[in-house]
Amino acid sequence: MSESNAMCDGSGPCVPGGRVRLLPLGSIPDHGNVILCRACFERELQYRRERNMELGADCQFKLPAWADCAIYGEQASPSAQV
Ligand SMILES: [Zn+2]
Repeated sequence: MSESNAMCDGSGPCVPGGRVRLLPLGSIPDHGNVILCRACFERELQYRRERNMELGADCQFKLPAWADCAIYGEQASPSAQV
């Protein structure tokens, strides 16, 4: 069993066959997302935390919680506008 996930946009190693969620790329809703498994999501957030230490207060990466990101491939919530 390879550590890959066909649904995930990340570079892996992934959670094989795991659920994937939409991580917003920017602060504008629906402006763009990447689809990531849990493992790639956590790596991306770790990267963002490290970058935030170097960035000014007015240009910080968002650090959404995994549970708050929309699940990809399942029914989306139309009221999710946060
Ligand atoms: Zn992944």
